[in-house]
Amino acid sequence: MSYFEILGNKYHPGHLQELLAVERGIKPAMRFSISEAQKPLLEMLKKESQKSGMFFIVKNYGEIHKFGSRKNADYLIYAAKSERLAKKLYQYEKAGDIRKVGESLGYPECCVDFYIDFLHSLPVKDGSCIKTFINTKSKPHFHANNIFNFQSRASGSFEKVKMLNSLNASKSYSRYFLISHIPCSYDCSESVAIGRELLKVIKAELPNFADEIVSALNRPFLLFDDFNWIAFNGAAKNKSTIEYEGIFPVRSLYPDDAFKNGNKVVVQKDEIQILTNDEITCRIKKKDEHDGVIIDFT
Ligand SMILES: [Zn+2]
Repeated sequence: MSYFEILGNKYHPGHLQELLAVERGIKPAMRFSISEAQKPLLEMLKKESQKSGMFFIVKNYGEIHKFGSRKNADYLIYAAKSERLAKKLYQYEKAGDIRKVGESLGYPECCVDFYIDFLHSLPVKDGSCIKTFINTKSKPHFHANNIFNFQSRASGSFEKVKMLNSLNASKSYSRYFLISHIPCSYDCSESVAIGRELLKVIKAELPNFADEIVSALNRPFLLFDDFNWIAFNGAAKNKSTIEYEGIFPVRSLYPDDAFKNGNKVVVQKDEIQILTNDEITCRIKKKDEHDGVIIDFT
């Protein structure tokens, strides 16, 4: 049985590309959580991993994290191609050494620095995505698009992650990502390189899944914060205008009804305008400059 058959849609398939990344040497290690009910999954993964020489270390979730919801996270699994690496990752996490955890997971140094800075500046009302956007100096790359991977931004926002999961219960959209870390910018060359490598592997193993991921990430977004965005079926005409035929069916916490009836969105200095056939049908007041920014990942 392959990883894909084991993980399928039943479990969190976001683990799939991570496991492939570790197995193929794109990342040195990974960690994920499972519930008591999912423990048989681990046994199956262990068997499958013998072929590729992967090691799994299993720890009680409560041993590492004393906060947050533990409803679906009874165990933390540390996986790597060597037992030493998996153990190291666990030890760094237990010691709360965020830099070493990031390094062990193969995150680019620039992105680890960015994340540590971000943690020091908490609470940040917009979350990390707007900060990543502000750092982006050239064209955003879809390989570094982490917007759907909202699980990775759970820290302190468990309720919002839970809400997003229930809004999108019919399909696990949070699996649409090519990098599992928070990028320092949407044009971070090291993040893009990791995303490209992983996409190659997924394309070879699971071409349909690769197409699904690219189609989800490679589009224009209107982003308000980590949990509020609209993803469009359309094209950004410039830095402030998107023309669209519809909305990509991933619900964020942002109410999208007004957008469904329009076909153009224009971001002005202090408001966002939704237009239908060039007539303004809705105006949304902006609270500040970054309350609604266009990120064109096409
Ligand atoms: Zn970076």
